[in-house]
Amino acid sequence: MDIQKLKGVGKKRAELFGKLGAPTVGDLLRLYPRDYQDWSGVTPISDAGTDEVCVVRGEVVAPPTEQRIRGGKLMHRCTVTDGEADMRLTFFNNRYIPGLLKEGETYLFRGRVSYTGRTPAMVSPEFSPEDRSAEIVPIYPATQGLATRSVAQAVKSALALLPDTLEDPLPPEIRERYKLCYLGYALENIHFPRTKEDLEIARRRLVFEEFLVLQLGLMEIKSGNRQENLHPLPGDFPEDFTRLLPFKLTGAQQRAIAEGIKDMSGPATMNRLVQGDVGSGKTAVAAALCWPVIKSGRQAALMAPTEILASQHYKSLSGLLEPAGIRCGLLTGGAGARQRQVREGISSGDIELVIGTHALISEKVEFHKLGLVITDEQHRFGVKQRMALAQKGASPHMLVMSATPIPRTLALMAYGDLDVSVLDELPPGRQEIATYLITPDKRERAFGYVREFLKEGRQGYLICPLIEGDESGMMSLEEYLPRVRAAFPGVAVAALHGKMKPQEKEQAMADFARGDTKLLVATTVVEVGMDVPNAAIMLIENAERYGLSQLHQLRGRIGRGKYQSACILISAAKNPESVERLKVFKSTNDGFTIADADLKLRGPGDFFGQRQHGLPQLKIAGISMDMELLREAQKCARRIYRSGALEGCDYKLLRDEIRRLFEKTGSERIAL
Ligand code: ADP
Ligand code: MG
Repeated sequence: MDIQKLKGVGKKRAELFGKLGAPTVGDLLRLYPRDYQDWSGVTPISDAGTDEVCVVRGEVVAPPTEQRIRGGKLMHRCTVTDGEADMRLTFFNNRYIPGLLKEGETYLFRGRVSYTGRTPAMVSPEFSPEDRSAEIVPIYPATQGLATRSVAQAVKSALALLPDTLEDPLPPEIRERYKLCYLGYALENIHFPRTKEDLEIARRRLVFEEFLVLQLGLMEIKSGNRQENLHPLPGDFPEDFTRLLPFKLTGAQQRAIAEGIKDMSGPATMNRLVQGDVGSGKTAVAAALCWPVIKSGRQAALMAPTEILASQHYKSLSGLLEPAGIRCGLLTGGAGARQRQVREGISSGDIELVIGTHALISEKVEFHKLGLVITDEQHRFGVKQRMALAQKGASPHMLVMSATPIPRTLALMAYGDLDVSVLDELPPGRQEIATYLITPDKRERAFGYVREFLKEGRQGYLICPLIEGDESGMMSLEEYLPRVRAAFPGVAVAALHGKMKPQEKEQAMADFARGDTKLLVATTVVEVGMDVPNAAIMLIENAERYGLSQLHQLRGRIGRGKYQSACILISAAKNPESVERLKVFKSTNDGFTIADADLKLRGPGDFFGQRQHGLPQLKIAGISMDMELLREAQKCARRIYRSGALEGCDYKLLRDEIRRLFEKTGSERIAL
């Protein structure tokens, strides 16, 4: 029903509601409050604790005083009392205060309590007449010209229009099993709850429904994305490839390869994510899967997020595969003759395995017969880029490699469209990396520690956040490099950062990999792509400014060889969140534990933020806050999906909800 059917909503208002995402009455009912003001409990002033948000009842003792302060701002002050204790109130820039707060009258005030000395105070509290019934007031997302109060009014009239027997997308069977309330009750109480308990019951049901719809939709997309496998491969494990390797594959690598081979020999194309901690050996898995594709006469392409990473992949893969007769090429963009040659090789089919940066997506690149697309460190690419590369072939297989461990609960949501192989086993002989946390005043001692490593013949990374100094006070290469040079006389020190020319970066990397440079002073460009087994010590300046996952990636650059490695975090941070984060990091080397902690500390933003996955916006559920419900909804979704019940008529309304949710994103097609 058009929102204009509601009393008091004309054309102009309707537009504003449209802006809020509620062009219809149905949408309006699902425009949930973003917050609530709880006026339902009054706290005695003497019990009002510092920093608490409370409602107090107070009589205005004397007319508010008026004052002009700096910048011409208007300030009113007044004192209220509840008979036992006084509270001081301050208001800014509200010239109506003297008219609104009358001496001798009693009001309810709601705000955050602060103390100056022993007197409690509130700054700009909300207030209302005492006799107003204590209630929980919904706060809506508002827009210019449409206040939250008007939205609430419209929602009230919309609720009044609901029929007594509202059809519920969650069939009774599901509601019973998961103890969820009926839709009508949920809608009424999410907007105008009588008690906190009612609100909780309503919220639980709506959060569950939202997760369930999302999960089911993702499952549909996953099965809908299946494209016919035009060139099924023979399903044999590539034994002749493994013979080329200088090591024995880990069990996890073998499993991942077997899963990929099975995909590529099956009826649909492969859409697989290989997730594994830094150093778990994803490259070997990728190479093993290229092997049968190339042997069957088609090409494989591997796209990496940085030039450094691309060239390192190129070196190791061509070193491995060219002796076995596979022709490899490196494409990193640019107009040079060599790049043109590579492009020609790709289009003629002369190059069988091409490794490159996003230069691979360029229009100028045409493949002869592209059979497999691999993206490395996928969280840096969007789905769009992956798709753009895939479009250069006729339904090629897809392999995505990611070193960002994602908590299991989130994996299906973040990568709903992919099957997942997990490399949960590191190659043998790796040492745990010892991690220390120190304050900047101990830097000299840390340098001394680094010297010990150098004496043993090891190399090290010194990481700092900035290239040039700024007002943030964080360490910059500009400042750090000379300090390091002075502290390590006679040691070959080099810099690596994102503003260097590709050739310079390449050179710096190569020198370090060869062991000519002993210390690399770098920004986070070193994060992906460096594989130097002799590097065993890392110092990270301003460690507090990195997320847990990023720190984990950085630390993964050491401990790649047989040497005992150490990572020293330098940080002066005092705020509890940073300290907690660094402590967690210090305590474990396991990527999944770190990912779980990151999720708890910072929420899911990090996992989803970098991936333009076209996931629909969640309206009410919060992934970290509602983790338990997410798990239940996932279980429920799997049950529904497996039983085939979704096709039945009991589930028609739920199917409608799924379609609606994914229609809005516009990015994924879903056939139901
Ligand atoms: P990542 O998963 O971080 O991409 P890489 O593929 O770069 O890891 O592998 C890390 C290092 O481990 C490389 O030097 C690689 O040669 C080595 N490696 C990979 N698999 C094994 C294995 N099964 N046994 C021993 N070393 C391995
Ligand atoms: Mg890698």
